Amino acid sequence: MILDLRTIYVVSAMTLLVLGSAHMVSYWTGRFGRWPAWWGASYLVLGVGTLLVCLRNFIPYVLSIQLGNVLTIAGYLLSFFAIRVLAGRPVSMLACVLALVCISLPVAALPSGDMSVSTRLFYVSAICCLCDLAVLREGIGIYRREKLFSAGLLAWLYLPTAAIFLVRSVMAATGEIAGPDPYGATVAHSWMASTAVIFLALRSMLIVLMAAERNRSELIALAHHDPLTGALNRGGLAQRLPVRGAHALALLVVDIDHFKQLNDQHGHPIGDDVLRLFSSAARSVLRPDDLLSRHGGDEFLVVLKNTAEDGAIAVAERMRSAFSEQVSAMTLFASLPTLSIGVAACSGPNIDFKKLLERADTALYASKRRGRDRVEASPAQEQAA
Ligand code: GH3
Ligand code: MG
Repeated sequence: MILDLRTIYVVSAMTLLVLGSAHMVSYWTGRFGRWPAWWGASYLVLGVGTLLVCLRNFIPYVLSIQLGNVLTIAGYLLSFFAIRVLAGRPVSMLACVLALVCISLPVAALPSGDMSVSTRLFYVSAICCLCDLAVLREGIGIYRREKLFSAGLLAWLYLPTAAIFLVRSVMAATGEIAGPDPYGATVAHSWMASTAVIFLALRSMLIVLMAAERNRSELIALAHHDPLTGALNRGGLAQRLPVRGAHALALLVVDIDHFKQLNDQHGHPIGDDVLRLFSSAARSVLRPDDLLSRHGGDEFLVVLKNTAEDGAIAVAERMRSAFSEQVSAMTLFASLPTLSIGVAACSGPNIDFKKLLERADTALYASKRRGRDRVEASPAQEQAA
């Protein structure tokens, strides 16, 4: 069955204009950042371009085909810049304008008339295919970096449309779609065009879904982290326990020595700097799988996955050295702030974290009693889990 191609283009144009307006309205509310403006611009430009192409034979050629094709390509290029903005990647306005001018304008230079129909279709389809592949690549990047399910889904939605444009460009190159009237469509062409409308609507839905999913994960990250040091807070640590795949666990309880005195002598802002500095020094000696959490005040917990006592003591010593090195760069203190660290480790299938914490806490108090600025391990006889 051949569907009427001009009608399909009109439906596409209307869909694009409505979706583009919806994105623009959400941008103007000021609640969603810059990205809806880029998507809105892409949809609106593409919508106007498609509408002009639909009006072939009703309005002058220069408007319907030449301007229509320029706007269609510009709309597709804008979708690439839009996903870069959504990905939080830098977008240079100069690069954007240059790409729009250099890639979309040449289509207007093609000679008018029936002979150029297939050349035009080939050029427009090939550029649209490349834009879809570029958006797909950016979408996969967002999925990998942010683990957003909807970004993965959005990216793969661009594959069928890229394939449709590829087939369309091949059909144009082989003369299957050509003048004098490209609306005298083949079955394949008309079905490809109608499928594209469905993908346009789905993409728009997934873009919104992706923004919602990202907001949710940002809120969860905020709720699970301490804003001063970026370490996990108690809730964040609780969410990550028990540690998956851990058959041995070591826990460090770290406390800054005489921190109250440091605050009294140098003021709370300097105290805050020291807390942030500890967090960065600690991270510098930890593996990506290890957990750093601010337990409260100047006390931090460090959870080391699959680490025995010896290894945990070595990490604790490295942490003290890294902290000492970084804090000495502040050149403020007559005597440098130091760390006391209690260590406890255990292994087995059912690790009791509460018990481990009690043991590490006891070791920390032993370290404070024995003069501070040291690492103490929980007594060996208590280590059986
Ligand atoms: P000790 O060697 O026994 O640990 O002595 P201390 O002075 O460090 O004692 P303690 O650990 O009890 O002191 C914690 C201090 O940390 C008390 C509080 O004023 C300070 N503190 C808690 N939260 C913050 C914070 O967010 N910023 C700053 N600057 N200070 C904080
Ligand atoms: Mg302290």
